[in-house]
Amino acid sequence: MRLGIMGGTFDPIHYGHLVTAEEALVQFNLDRVLFMPTGNPALKRDRAVTPAEDRYLMVVVATASNPDFDVSRLEVDRPGPTYTVDTLQALRAEYGPSTELFFITGADAVWEIVGWKDAEQVASLATFIAATRPGYDLDAARTAHEGEATGFRIEYIEVPALAISSTDLRSRLAERRTIRYLTPESVAAYIYKRGLYREAG
Ligand code: ATP
Ligand code: MG
Repeated sequence: MRLGIMGGTFDPIHYGHLVTAEEALVQFNLDRVLFMPTGNPALKRDRAVTPAEDRYLMVVVATASNPDFDVSRLEVDRPGPTYTVDTLQALRAEYGPSTELFFITGADAVWEIVGWKDAEQVASLATFIAATRPGYDLDAARTAHEGEATGFRIEYIEVPALAISSTDLRSRLAERRTIRYLTPESVAAYIYKRGLYREAG
């Protein structure tokens, strides 16, 4: 079995995440993609993160119609911060050695991971699928980081130019602007029902 793991804060989930997961699924012949919302960190870039349960439920409604997408509660249910190495180890233990793990992430995020202290262990547990986003200079990044990623298997995919980010959705919502066509209607409905992102931050 070939299992994709799409980790993120998903605050909130949007079409950029969904298109990336679908593209990884198809291009790498994955059997499923497991969305893995992060647990409750204290802060992310100096702003309060929406409660994990809300972020988890938005991922559930966003992925409900795709039979190849699943959502994991692994990090949401874990108290304290979770490290990717722990998550990958837990998945390895759960699925056994016959399952190949593919960690899907933005191309910019890949180079942060390479710098982690347990990078070597992370590299041994999964192949990385890095999605390039609009404005991302892949060749420049490759050259800049040449030789750094020892032991890392990194594959690049190009996703359709989607300049969508959770940050932009949050500021649109705080300014009462539209988020239609940027995220599934089910996610927008959940956001309005729960009154999320009404305040700037
Ligand atoms: P924020 O604006 O709060 O940083 P985000 O939109 O980047 O949010 P995250 O939850 O941080 O969303 O992203 C989860 C993963 O999805 C990361 O690996 C990120 O690089 C990737 N990603 C986010 N948006 C896109 C997009 N539009 N296209 C491709 N990959 C994306
Ligand atoms: Mg981000």
